[in-house]
Amino acid sequence: MGSVTIYSEPEVRRPNAGANGYLTVNLSALSRNYAKLSTLVAPAQAAAVVKAEAYGLGAKNVCSALYASGCRNFFVAQFEEAVKLRPCLSADAKVFVLNGLQPGNEEACARSDIIPVVNSLEQWRRWSITAKCRKFSLKAVLQFDTGMSRLGVPPEERSTLAVELAGQAGVDIIFIMSHLASADEHDSDQNNDQLVEMKRISKEFPHLKICFSNSGGIFLGKDYHAQVARTGIALYGGLPIIGKPNPMEPVVALDVAVIQTRTVPVGAKIGYNGTHIAARETRLATIAAGYADGLPRSLSGRGAVYYEGRRLPIVGRVSMDSITIDITALSEGTLSLGSVVEVLGPHQALEDLARDAGTISYEILTGLGNRYHRQYR
Ligand SMILES: *Cc1c(COP(=O)(O)O)cnc(C)c1O
Repeated sequence: MGSVTIYSEPEVRRPNAGANGYLTVNLSALSRNYAKLSTLVAPAQAAAVVKAEAYGLGAKNVCSALYASGCRNFFVAQFEEAVKLRPCLSADAKVFVLNGLQPGNEEACARSDIIPVVNSLEQWRRWSITAKCRKFSLKAVLQFDTGMSRLGVPPEERSTLAVELAGQAGVDIIFIMSHLASADEHDSDQNNDQLVEMKRISKEFPHLKICFSNSGGIFLGKDYHAQVARTGIALYGGLPIIGKPNPMEPVVALDVAVIQTRTVPVGAKIGYNGTHIAARETRLATIAAGYADGLPRSLSGRGAVYYEGRRLPIVGRVSMDSITIDITALSEGTLSLGSVVEVLGPHQALEDLARDAGTISYEILTGLGNRYHRQYR
């Protein structure tokens, strides 16, 4: 498990000589991103999606910063995540579990002041029975499937649910919600189709607040803002809309330590299975992170890291704990043991690395792993 340091801006150091790398989370940039998204959706509210350790950045630190910026609604995916997070937040903050209410989990959920996102009629029934037995009101969010076929009350259960909802008073519905499947694609018809369906649902379940958009949805315009938006990737500096400039500030930087350098002759085989053969005399550096640290094996022979703006290509296979890079572009002696190279930072955005790895920024962020020294500014 990596170590953690918290700094006040603008101080950033590299205090841990043994660290394989430094994952730096800029909490000020995170707060500015939250402020920007809040302004964009106002008078609607911006909620924070902090599932999977706030996309790998550390839920506790991220939530403290967001709470200080005025955020009061926090979404995780799993009940166990909520249990961990709940004590870190004040009583006026709400913690929601997107994945729903598991059978047998009702009492624990009620006791812990954790709010389930109710995803089916069956979940609704269990939660309202729990409320009745406890003789006081419980909170819930109702999620509806508007066309993603993943989570949420399916269309055929809606009319029964509406009837049962009208007949009871034990559950306080904080809002109804749904999730957009293609919000990052601005010209997808699916966005409007889902919006139309959400408006229909809101007529069937009147007088309830609506929580609809994720990061991408916010940039689809006012129609999509409803009363609450759930912001995830944009908070963390990821690109909310494919093919547009990124309006968000980067939050994460990753620098990885050089652990060996060498010069190899023409014909030298580099890395597992000798997939790369040096076409010329080549200066190499081995850096201390691999696929176990969230740099996917699909970056083998494709990706790059940077040093003072110079692109240093990955050569050969990505190993579990290390990657070999071609540093011939740098003059001799520039990199040595103790140097660090940029994996994410001013020269390489999350999306660049994700593209080279054949994946999305979400998967890169959530995979970054626990072996880096983490520093929060
Ligand atoms: C993960 C998730 C979000 C956040 O999406 P971003 O694209 O990261 O903003 C919002 N809502 C639901 C239901 C999610 O699962």
